Amino acid sequence: MAAAASDHHTGDGEAHYEEVALSEMIEEDGVYYWECPCGDMFEISTEELERGERVARCPSCTLTLYVLMPDAGPSKKPSAPAKDEGASAK
Ligand SMILES: [Zn+2]
Repeated sequence: MAAAASDHHTGDGEAHYEEVALSEMIEEDGVYYWECPCGDMFEISTEELERGERVARCPSCTLTLYVLMPDAGPSKKPSAPAKDEGASAK
C-alpha cells in the first residue's frame, strides 16, 4: 500500500527463519499460512506473491519465512516429500 515504514529491500543475503515451498503451506481465502514457532502463523497473500513478494511475515514476532515458488526457474523435479509432522513443533 503506502511507502513502507521499513525501506529495506531484502536481497538474497537475508536470513529467514525457514524456507518453505508454497505447495506445503496452508492456503485459505487467498492467503498462505505457515506455523510460526511463536505460536502465531506466518502469512502471505496471493496478491503479494503476484507482486513478487516472497517473504511471509508473522504478525506477532519478527521472524520471516521465505516462500519457495514451484515454478521459480529451472529446478529439478521434487521427489515425493516425506514430511515428518511434529518435527518442527518445538
Ligand atoms: Zn511469530
